[in-house]
Amino acid sequence: MIDDAVRERSGALVQTLLDSIRIASVSLTGEGIGDQVAFLRKRLEGWGFAVEVHDTTSHPIIYAEAGPADAKFTWLLYGHYDVYPADEKQEGWRTKPFEPVIEGDRIWGRGAGDNKGQHLAMLGAIATWRETRGELPVRIKLILEGDEETGSVPLPKFVEANRARLKADLCVYSDGPMFPNDQPVLLMGVRGNLGLEFISKGAKRNLHSGNFGGVAPNPTLDLIHFLAEIVDRDGKLTVPGAGYADVKVAPADLEAVRTLPVDHEGFRESVGADPTTGSDDALFHERLMLRPAFNVSGFAAGYSGAGSKSIIFKEAIAKADVRLVAGQDPVAVADAIRAHAAKLGYKGIEIKSLKGTPASRTPLDHAFVPMVRDAVAKGFGRDPFVVPSLGGTTPDFVFTKLLGLPSIVIPLAPYDENNHAPNESTKVSLYLAGVRSGLHLLEAMARA
Ligand SMILES: [Zn+2]
Repeated sequence: MIDDAVRERSGALVQTLLDSIRIASVSLTGEGIGDQVAFLRKRLEGWGFAVEVHDTTSHPIIYAEAGPADAKFTWLLYGHYDVYPADEKQEGWRTKPFEPVIEGDRIWGRGAGDNKGQHLAMLGAIATWRETRGELPVRIKLILEGDEETGSVPLPKFVEANRARLKADLCVYSDGPMFPNDQPVLLMGVRGNLGLEFISKGAKRNLHSGNFGGVAPNPTLDLIHFLAEIVDRDGKLTVPGAGYADVKVAPADLEAVRTLPVDHEGFRESVGADPTTGSDDALFHERLMLRPAFNVSGFAAGYSGAGSKSIIFKEAIAKADVRLVAGQDPVAVADAIRAHAAKLGYKGIEIKSLKGTPASRTPLDHAFVPMVRDAVAKGFGRDPFVVPSLGGTTPDFVFTKLLGLPSIVIPLAPYDENNHAPNESTKVSLYLAGVRSGLHLLEAMARA
């Protein structure tokens, strides 16, 4: 019945995604945001949602509810309608990013995977239910934000302010890539992210290295040394109390990653190198999901043009992003790094926190896991892996920490979705499997 309903409506379901991709909605520039909000409001109202558009300090948050007010089960559903910027001239797109193209099973276009092809699949399930069976069996509370790609700044405030209204039994949403070869997964959490900037200052002007070398402060060397004191070559943070070794990993989490496969060939093809964890597949997933990782994402100092310059530059800057795991507070980690700098006597280095999103976790053995796993297995015709965490970051903490809800993520984009890069895509088959999974989930929630 669900298979037939989705097959019969597949044209319209895919069309909704194409229509959404066509409206740019780039949060960084604001392009098309108003049009995307208007598009979603109209569609949602057509599917029976009561829709509110909330202004924020940035782009609007769409909040909508549907289904009986007295339903026994409430599903909190989340998504983001904004997309990462796409400059077709600079980035080498084969097609125009905001003119979606279908080739075989692929849908090409910015936002196809991240996140339009994901939240619209879940909404497609709700729309299909309404069209084929009438009233929904559960209460749905929907949040669609427009700032995910720029850090979800307004979302925590919105959730805090609407805590009472957002009461629900379970948060389930779709984001992120699946495992290779279209292997479905349930993500029971996400890593957090801390953005840092290190500004190292020395003399008040650039100095001649002959006249001053050895006697003047050298902020470039200071910064290089300091970074080497807080992180090893593997990206393991070594700051006491906040480092890699200080993170407690639960035995159940280690057990869950022990049997997960690594697609070595796919990794090599995508990255152009082998994993730094070698042939140890369990360690690969442990490091990606259960351990923090420190990355220097930028370093600017001195002169790197042709020839050489004998100058001691007055300033050096580094940017870093730290992926955090459960139990690590972004503010505490930044403070520990600052305290370490002070203790080691790096007086000229200022450390600024640029952004901080905590990690988020729901226990692997939560009572709702079998229900969601079952719905996804039916929707995809294939059992999902239940994995502790996404390597990346979503604002999942607002659901688990601020609302105290269990939260389970069902990624619907292919492993090679190329989000944030040229030639982003999703697959029609995965999008429709997502719609089927959503319908099975509604059936199961009605019985929960
Ligand atoms: Zn994204």
